[in-house]
Amino acid sequence: MNMTYKRALLEPKSIKDMYPVSASGKQAKEQNDKQISDVMCGRSDKLILVIGPCSADHEDPVIDYISRLRPVQDKVQDKLVIIPRIYTNKPRTTGAGYKGMLHQPDPDARPDILKGLIAIRKLHMRALNETGFSCADEMLYPENHNYLSDLLSYVAVGARSVENQQHRLTASGLDIPAGMKNPTSGDLSVMMNSIRAAQAGHTFIYRNWEVESKGNPMAHAILRGFVDSYGKSHPNYHYEDLLRLYEMFQAAQDIKNPSVIVDCNHSNSGKQFNEQIRIAKEVLHSMRHNDNLRPMIKGLMIESYIEDGACARGEFTYGKSITDPCLGWEKTERLIYELADLL
Ligand code: PEP
Ligand code: MN
Repeated sequence: MNMTYKRALLEPKSIKDMYPVSASGKQAKEQNDKQISDVMCGRSDKLILVIGPCSADHEDPVIDYISRLRPVQDKVQDKLVIIPRIYTNKPRTTGAGYKGMLHQPDPDARPDILKGLIAIRKLHMRALNETGFSCADEMLYPENHNYLSDLLSYVAVGARSVENQQHRLTASGLDIPAGMKNPTSGDLSVMMNSIRAAQAGHTFIYRNWEVESKGNPMAHAILRGFVDSYGKSHPNYHYEDLLRLYEMFQAAQDIKNPSVIVDCNHSNSGKQFNEQIRIAKEVLHSMRHNDNLRPMIKGLMIESYIEDGACARGEFTYGKSITDPCLGWEKTERLIYELADLL
């Protein structure tokens, strides 16, 4: 092997002991988890919004952004359940570029994973303590989930990971919703199989242990659009796409709580971030149009931050995405109120 073993990292328990969740934080997460599972299991017809920046680049603007969501959530609590995105692990299409706060707690400095593990835990903890939100992250490296397991209320398995066995098996051992994205190719059978795998119990190796999972009945679909063999983006959020997914769930009688969250950015918007406004409203329209779709559509994912768009290479603007382009705060706030009114 050509890798240098630089240092052994602290175990999740050690970092959790160094940075423990407060009693009030624990209680807030329990309440959030209950609200979210009520939606995912069909006991509540509120809509989930997984919303926030593509990547959590710096602590202060992310906390600033999530603090702005708090009063908005309080006003729309009868209609919407907001789960902020704090995405600290970023998959890269070619492997190059910023890999997220876990690798680079300072995006301009060299990778430092020990610092990164502490930085991501502190960021999720600050969000919980200061705003009462337990947030969403991408489960890009399943073996790292334990570092944040007492803080997260939602994980997504990304389009590039959803066919991977370890992601599916780890998702089967979580007691929070795991959103299984359609792969970048758009093959929905891969997504359906990943939901099936995550809903079943398994025996497998996790962090050097032989473990047994019970299965996760809140594993569900995320439609994020797809890329064809010429590299062109295509949407999969339209009425016909949702109807087709409904039919697939009908045919797959073994899947519990058949659910989808529609990702309004990525290949659904072709990263035209402003289109997320139209796409979100269109999904709500489809939902109202067909009584079969209403119980299946559990929420929307929106990439949103303080500033519109994304930084150019070498640029740093506070609250502006350094990965995918995001909807800025003013448009986001307006959109959340409009969605609540439409429900
Ligand atoms: C994301 O949510 O920022 C992301 C990387 O998504 P996907 O896996 O769909 O590309
Ligand atoms: Mn993104």
